[in-house]
Amino acid sequence: MAGKSVIVVGAGISGLSTAYFLDRAGSDVTLLELEAVSGGTMQTVREDGWLVETGPTSSLETTPLLREMVKELGIGDEWVYADASADKRYILRGGKLHPLPMTPLAFLVSGLWGGRAKLRLLGEPIVGRAPAEESIAQFVTRRLGKEFLDYAIDPFVSGVYAGDPARLSVRAAFPKLYALEEKYGGLMKGMILGAGERRQRAEKAKDKARMFSFRGGMQTFPRAIARRLGAKIRYGCDVVAVERGADGRFRILLGRGGGGIPAESDVVVLAVPAYAAELLIRHFSPAASDALRRISYPPVAEVFLGYRAEDMGRALDGFGYLVPAKEGRSILGTIWSSSLFPGRAPEGRVALTTFVGGSRQPQIARKNEEDLIRLVTSELRALMNVRGDPVYARVSRWERAIPQYNLGHQELMTTVDGLETDMPGLFFCSNFRGGIAVGDCVMNGEKTARRILETLR
Ligand SMILES: Cc1cc2nc3c(=O)[nH]c(=O)nc-3n(C[C@H](O)[C@H](O)[C@H](O)COP(=O)(O)OP(=O)(O)OC[C@H]3O[C@@H](n4cnc5c(N)ncnc54)[C@H](O)[C@@H]3O)c2cc1C
Repeated sequence: MAGKSVIVVGAGISGLSTAYFLDRAGSDVTLLELEAVSGGTMQTVREDGWLVETGPTSSLETTPLLREMVKELGIGDEWVYADASADKRYILRGGKLHPLPMTPLAFLVSGLWGGRAKLRLLGEPIVGRAPAEESIAQFVTRRLGKEFLDYAIDPFVSGVYAGDPARLSVRAAFPKLYALEEKYGGLMKGMILGAGERRQRAEKAKDKARMFSFRGGMQTFPRAIARRLGAKIRYGCDVVAVERGADGRFRILLGRGGGGIPAESDVVVLAVPAYAAELLIRHFSPAASDALRRISYPPVAEVFLGYRAEDMGRALDGFGYLVPAKEGRSILGTIWSSSLFPGRAPEGRVALTTFVGGSRQPQIARKNEEDLIRLVTSELRALMNVRGDPVYARVSRWERAIPQYNLGHQELMTTVDGLETDMPGLFFCSNFRGGIAVGDCVMNGEKTARRILETLR
């Protein structure tokens, strides 16, 4: 391993985690980042007593790696679990917010689904396996019925992917859900029988994992990793191509700001979004480049509004609410940010983060800021009885937000996997493979680091 070097391109949480684990194992690693800051989509803004997350608002503790890293980085005191009320989530139906039932009794009396839809669930264990790849909509309709698709899964899918259940592949986007059917023959059977296995892997199912953030916001985490890596991260480096020389080493070509960079390495990790990675590899792998180009990233806007606490027309007693497509509204949902974590709003104020756009309504995310604020304000009035105008507003827009694991995604990834096999030393580690959640990106970074260490050995 001595003398072998690794270059990681992209200092979002995927690239940072990969570099962190390589560095910890004593590898010679350099991270090249386009922007002047690390963290990629994980950014926090603090202004006038408000704490605004412009990307992820929290993370789920799905792996012990998260705690381990945070402890090692010396930011354990910053870690904060979401308020206990975060388990309470609402779903809009008929213009009203209904709590998502958390107990069998609450489920039976819930107004979210009709009696027939509830009865239909009893038949779930005897529904057979799908003959071919299915969308989430097909999978859920077949196993649970249309009403559960519309008023449980559809809003959940837009909460996670800002995606469309009719296009997302259940196998690629929710592999663990798909595995319940594949392995155990059904969701209910799988949830019961699979619990022991998860315990052994020390991983937590997303519905069981606790939600956390940091006192200073989500950016605390990438910032701490970047601090640890120090001068091993070079900012303002626009990687424009990757080449492989006859000696098997990689040459990293830089656009602006490339002076003094070690442009050669034995291993290169592309920890950039698919639309950036495809440009870097196009000249030597048109097939993998095409596969990456086909991954869509619809736009999302995060509209953060601050209000006087007394202007709330209802209790902010939970995580917030999700909006099913069937309800025909212009927003995907709202997180009651100041109810979840401390320090999100000044004294006597509340913070509401509303998401718009995604696969469902991409055009809404592209509206100008004023229109977006007006639209969200009027939706909050209608859905939450909010009175008055916001006292603070900030719009964060991601033109290409979250990769969609649509039907056929697995085949695209097989092509990408194939390139990694054909070109030892080249790795992809980004949220278009292995999950989009922060915890998934960290697990992927650790796994990629392990694979690299094996290759170098
Ligand atoms: C609006 C929004 C809300 C979200 N909410 C949540 C949430 O609440 N919880 C959760 O778990 N997840 C959430 N996610 C998902 C999660 O934040 C992301 O999946 C994750 O942060 C992606 O990390 P990454 O490192 O794979 O990619 P990125 O964060 O995109 O990082 C890629 C990095 O590569 C750099 N780069 C790109 N091109 C080049 C180049 N040519 N040369 C050099 N560098 C380059 C970029 O500047 C960037 O820093 C959310 C995502 C979005 C967009």
